[in-house]
Amino acid sequence: MKLTIAEFKQDYIAQIKSSTARQINETTALERYTALGEMVKEYIGNLWANTNSTYRTEQVKQIYYFSMEFLTGKFMENNLNYLGIYEIVKDGLRSLDIDIDDILEVEVDQGLGNGGLGRLAAGFLDAMSSISIPGHGCGIRYKNGLFEQRIIDGYQVEFPDRWLVNNNVWEYKRNNKAVIVKYNGHVETHMDGERLKFELVNYDAVRAVPYDTPILGFENNTVNTLRLWSAEEIDDIFDFENFSKGNYLSAFEKKHSVEIITQILYPNDAYDEGKLLRLKQEYFFVSAGIQSIFNTYKKMNVGINRFAEFVAIHINDTHPALAIPELMRILLDEEEMTWEEAWKITTQCISYTNHTIMAEALEKWPLYMLRDLLPRITMIIEEIERRFTEDLINVYHITDPNHLSAMHIIYDGMVRMAHLSIIGSHSINGVAKLHTEILKNKELKVFYDIYPERFNNKTNGIMHRHWLLNANPGLTKLIGDTIGDGFKKNPRVLRDLLKYRDDKSFLDDLFEIKHQNKENLAKYIKDKQGIVVDPYAIFDMQAKRIHEYKRQHLNILHVMHLYRQLKENPNLDIPPRVFVFAGKSAPSYYVAKQIIKLINTVGSVINNDKSIKDKLKVVFLPNYGVSLASHMIPAADVSEQISTASKEASGTGNMKFMMNGAVTLATLDGANVEIMNEVGESNIILFGLKVEEVYDYYQNGHYNAYEIYNNSPDLKAVIDELVNGYLPVPKDEFIPIADRLLRFNDEFFILKDFESYRLAQERIAEIYRDKYQWSKMSLANIACSGAFSADYTIERYATSIWNVQKKLLDFKL
Ligand SMILES: *Cc1c(COP(=O)(O)O)cnc(C)c1O
Repeated sequence: MKLTIAEFKQDYIAQIKSSTARQINETTALERYTALGEMVKEYIGNLWANTNSTYRTEQVKQIYYFSMEFLTGKFMENNLNYLGIYEIVKDGLRSLDIDIDDILEVEVDQGLGNGGLGRLAAGFLDAMSSISIPGHGCGIRYKNGLFEQRIIDGYQVEFPDRWLVNNNVWEYKRNNKAVIVKYNGHVETHMDGERLKFELVNYDAVRAVPYDTPILGFENNTVNTLRLWSAEEIDDIFDFENFSKGNYLSAFEKKHSVEIITQILYPNDAYDEGKLLRLKQEYFFVSAGIQSIFNTYKKMNVGINRFAEFVAIHINDTHPALAIPELMRILLDEEEMTWEEAWKITTQCISYTNHTIMAEALEKWPLYMLRDLLPRITMIIEEIERRFTEDLINVYHITDPNHLSAMHIIYDGMVRMAHLSIIGSHSINGVAKLHTEILKNKELKVFYDIYPERFNNKTNGIMHRHWLLNANPGLTKLIGDTIGDGFKKNPRVLRDLLKYRDDKSFLDDLFEIKHQNKENLAKYIKDKQGIVVDPYAIFDMQAKRIHEYKRQHLNILHVMHLYRQLKENPNLDIPPRVFVFAGKSAPSYYVAKQIIKLINTVGSVINNDKSIKDKLKVVFLPNYGVSLASHMIPAADVSEQISTASKEASGTGNMKFMMNGAVTLATLDGANVEIMNEVGESNIILFGLKVEEVYDYYQNGHYNAYEIYNNSPDLKAVIDELVNGYLPVPKDEFIPIADRLLRFNDEFFILKDFESYRLAQERIAEIYRDKYQWSKMSLANIACSGAFSADYTIERYATSIWNVQKKLLDFKL
C-alpha cells in the first residue's frame, strides 16, 4: 500500500490518542503495540472486505482447511511486511523516538499448536493467501495455548500460557455468526410424507462463537480468514425457538461446564489420548465450521446440489474427521437429500492428510463414548460402515474375515478415525515421498489396493517469507543484493546462488552473516541462561518436540562420548562445539521428560568443567516455539534430523534449518530424503539404518540391544554413566532411559545407530576445519531450499486435490 512517513505519523498519533487518551511519550510498549495493531487492522480491513465480497459476488470456489491446531506465532512484523510498509512504519516510529523492535517484542506468540502439524497449518494459510488461493482456516480458539515450559533444577515444569490476557488485536469476534452445536440427547424418527426423518431431542446445546483473524497475502491484496471457534454458554435470547426444543433446564445447569470445551489445547504431539473432552472439542469446531460454510454458501445463491463445485474441505490429520458424518448429517437431515446424493457431495468435498503411521498416534474412539455424545453422528458412521462393507464384499470381492476386519471403521468396540477419513474422502495424501510410499505399500495397503487413485503425495513446506525474510534479515539482504528480490515470491530462484559457490568473497560474506547470527544467539544464551559459548564453535542444534522417535537421547549420548574423549585427552584437537537443544515434552510423557533432565544434567557437568577448555558446551533453551525457533535457526551450523528411519513422516524443522544454511545431519527419513535429492549427497551428512532395515528388524525380531552394548566399549561406557552414579543425580534417576535402551530392547535403534552417528559427527568436524568447504555446503543448502516453500506445496494441493483456481484481486489502498 501507499503510505508516507508523514501520513503514518498522523494516523498513529491519532490512534494512540483515541485508544489510550494519553500523550505518546506517556504510553507503554504494550499500548504502542496495540495502537499500531489497530491501525494495521484498519488497513487490512479494507482489503479483507473486498476479498470477501469478491468471493461471494463472483461465486468463487473456496477451500476450508480444518485443523485442530494453528501455530501462527506473531503477526505484526509479517503484516507490515506484506502490506509493504515495514520500513515506513519503522522510520515513522523512529522519528517519534520509538524503536520498532521494542514494539514487536511485546506481541505474544499465538501458540495454538504442539509442533509441526500446527505450524504446517499456519504456513498453509499464509501460502494460500500469498498465491491468491481462496482458502480459509477453521479451528479452535483455545483460551490457553500450549503450556509455557520452564526448566527448574533441570526438569521441565509446565506453566499455563495465558496468551489472551492483554487481548488479541488481530481477532474480530463475530457474534452474529454464532451457531449451535448439539451433544448428547437421543434420536427420534418419524415419517414426513415419504421421508423418514431423524431428530435429535433432549440434547445439550453449546453456543459456538467465531473469532476471525485476517490472513494477509504477500503484496497481493488478498486477505483470507482464519476462523477460530470459542464455546460460550447460551443466553436465553439466542435462537430461543430452536434451543427450547432441546432440554432447557439441563442446558442451563451445564452452562458453566460449556466453556471448558475451548479452555485448553491438548499438549500431546503424535499421541492419541482418547479423552471425552477431546472428542467434544473435535466435534465442536467441525460442526460449527461446517454449519458456517453452509451459511456462507447460501449467500452465493447457487443450488445445494452444486455444493461440491464451490466448496472443498480439507482435514489436517484425522482430528477433524467428524466433518464427514457432520456434512452427511446436514445434507440428509436438513437439506433432505438422498443418501447417495449426500455421499457423493461429501466425498467430493473432503480430502485428508495423513501425518503419521505410529500406532500410538492413530485416533480411535470407543463406540459407546461416541454414541453417548453424538448419537445421530454415530448412526451415520454405522451406515457408512454398513455400505462400505457391502461394497467390499460385492464390488471388491473381499471375503476373508481378517482382510475385512483390517478395513472396518468400527472394530473391537472402537471407531478408527483414519479408516473413516479414507472412506469418506476423494484424496488421501502423505506428507513426504517416503511417507506416502509407506502408506501405499504397507500401513494403508489394504485401502490403496481398492482406491489407488485416491492416494497421492504432497511433501510439506515451510513459510519461507517467515523463516528467511523475517528471521534472517542479514542473509535476506545478501541474497537480495546478489540475485535480486525475485526469491521472495518465487523461492526456486534461490538456485541462482549456486553460481557463487566458487566466489570466495561471497563465501566470506556468507560466513560473516552466519557468524553475526551466532554472536547474537551467543548473547541471547548468555543473557537467558548465563552460559558463555564461543561463537566460533560449531553450533549444532536439535530443536523439535522431545520424543523417543526423534532421538534426542542419541544426540546427548554422543555428547557424553565426546566429553569422555576430552577427559581422557584434554589436548585432543577437535573444533569446539556447542550443542543446543530445545523442545517441549508432553507433560505426561515420562521418558521424554527424563531426556530433558539428562540433557540438562550433562550440560551442567560439561559447562562447569574448566579442564576441557571450552571445547564443548551444552545448552537447553526453554520454551521452544515459533519465536524461539526464529532466534535459533539462523545461527545453526548443523541441523540434527536423526529420527529412526520410517518414524518422521516429513519434518519441517529440517527445511527451515536448510534454508538458513545449516548442514543437515540426517537419517534417510521423511523429507530428509528429498533434501538429499535437492542438495546432492555431497552436501548432506547421512547415517543410520534405512527404512527397510528397520522393518526387517521389526519383522524378524533379531534385534538385540544387549549384544550391541556388550560389543561396543565406547557406547557401553556412556550407557553405564546413566546408572553408575557418575552423573550428579540419584543413581536411579535415569534408570527409565537405560531400561528403554536395554531391558526393553531399544525400540528406536539408538544403540544400532550410535556408531554410524559418531562417524558422521567426525566427518562434520573434519569438514568444518575448512571454512570454504563448509561455506560451500552451506550455500548449496540455501540455494536448494526454495523447493520446500509452502507456496509450491499449496500450488500442488490446489491443482491436484482441491481443484480450486487462483483469484487475483485488484484493490488500491
Ligand atoms: C517447525 C516447527 C516444528 C516442527 O519441527 P520438526 O523438526 O519438523 O519436528 C515444531 N515446533 C515449532 C515451533 C516449529 O516452528
